[in-house]
Amino acid sequence: MQVPIVLFWFRRDLRLSDNAGLYHALTSGFPVLPVFIFDQDILDQFPAGTDRRVEFIHNTLKAMFGVLQALGSSLEVKHGKPLEMLGMLTAQYDVKAVYANHDYEPEAIRRDEQVARFLESKGIAFHTYKDQVVFEKHEVVKDDGTPYRVFGAYRKRWMKKLSDFYLSSYPTEKYQHNFFQTSPIPIIRLEEIGFTQSGEPTFPPTELPKTIIRTYELTRDLPSLAGTSRLGLHLRFGTVSVRALTRQALQLNAVWLGELIWREFFMMILFHFPHVSGRPYNLEYEHMAWLNQEDQFERWCNGTTGYPIVDAGMRELNATGFMHNRVRMIVASFMVKHLLIDYRWGEAYFAGKLLDYDMAANNGNWQWCAGTGCDAAPYFRVFNPETQAKKFDKHQEYIRKWVPELGTPAYPAPMVDHAFARDRALRTYKAALNKA
Ligand code: FAD
Repeated sequence: MQVPIVLFWFRRDLRLSDNAGLYHALTSGFPVLPVFIFDQDILDQFPAGTDRRVEFIHNTLKAMFGVLQALGSSLEVKHGKPLEMLGMLTAQYDVKAVYANHDYEPEAIRRDEQVARFLESKGIAFHTYKDQVVFEKHEVVKDDGTPYRVFGAYRKRWMKKLSDFYLSSYPTEKYQHNFFQTSPIPIIRLEEIGFTQSGEPTFPPTELPKTIIRTYELTRDLPSLAGTSRLGLHLRFGTVSVRALTRQALQLNAVWLGELIWREFFMMILFHFPHVSGRPYNLEYEHMAWLNQEDQFERWCNGTTGYPIVDAGMRELNATGFMHNRVRMIVASFMVKHLLIDYRWGEAYFAGKLLDYDMAANNGNWQWCAGTGCDAAPYFRVFNPETQAKKFDKHQEYIRKWVPELGTPAYPAPMVDHAFARDRALRTYKAALNKA
């Protein structure tokens, strides 16, 4: 007779400690077999070859596998469609329940509804928990139950609701003896899922850089400095606990805590207004007469616009998968307002490149920059890339790092005149609003 077990399905929560769903699985009374599925539908969205994010996940799985192996357990890493893979696992083992953490993106919600129906048809329970955020979808809403649309009011309510209860960690380590004891099967190789090692897998550490965070408001806008946490990637894949980070933020810096709240604000917006994935939050902007010139978009992507701060940002992104937040705002504003390219083009480009890509944050910020989002920058605020560079990269340290040919004939002239572009943007936005 087979031993009855439960599965813990890792998704955006790739850690063995302080993990809500894993804790509930480990205390369920059944041995826990951990599982990860490389979802073919998601992998299909990446160009084959090397992808730093796939590599990051793979590295993380290898590290977790090592820990689980030392505990006498294993990690089942599958590759395919989640429903089929769960079907295989439930046929192979006597599975009493599947545990996981909530996932809030529209596609993930659809996938989980399908999985729940499938498991139910087999008489297997599907238990999911909040883990990725301190407060989810319906927890921070107005008195009448409707969602907030303005960040300041949302933050105030978020802070008011916060208590130790929401920040206590789940002591998963105490229950490690409840992992299913089995001979470990080596995990799938990157090549088996269609990717190769890039040979430069350097990712930022998972520890919060406390010294930097203490003075965050002084350094956060200077792209030449290491003045931010660089934890975006870890928050994206759950290799850090947001509860632990929030406890630290409360001790260290309210401004930085505000960034974690922005993250939850945009997740809440995506959940309550799912039309934002694909359409402007503010539908009045559906009538924008974007110019969408492909050759101009290409110059923006390659970092050859002739605006050094824009080009430095795009080159940093292309080379490393990271771009500083201030520069993200500048390049986004430039693409949308100076070139009148649909913000969705830039959103998609970032989605393909950013290590910390997160649908809610990326969409929310692109719409913020385009002026089409909730609580967005007003459309008539058009960043001047030169003024921004003078203010935030006064000695051109950041620019020189990424645009070494600046000042030589090899560097192109600005592809569009600022005053002309600003005026054109204002006219186009105004016309769109008049049509709405
Ligand atoms: P820190 O400054 O140390 O902030 C800590 C954490 O707070 C971040 O890791 C992130 O999880 C969260 N955070 C900070 N700022 C924001 C913000 N404005 N909105 C939502 N969460 C925030 N952030 C993403 O995580 N994923 C994205 O895909 C993404 N796309 C963006 C696109 C554009 C056009 C812009 C302007 C910003 C985008 N951001 C995105 C927000 C921000 O730029 C990054 O979170 C930040 O630069 C990551 O660096 P860090 O980890 O050092 O952040």
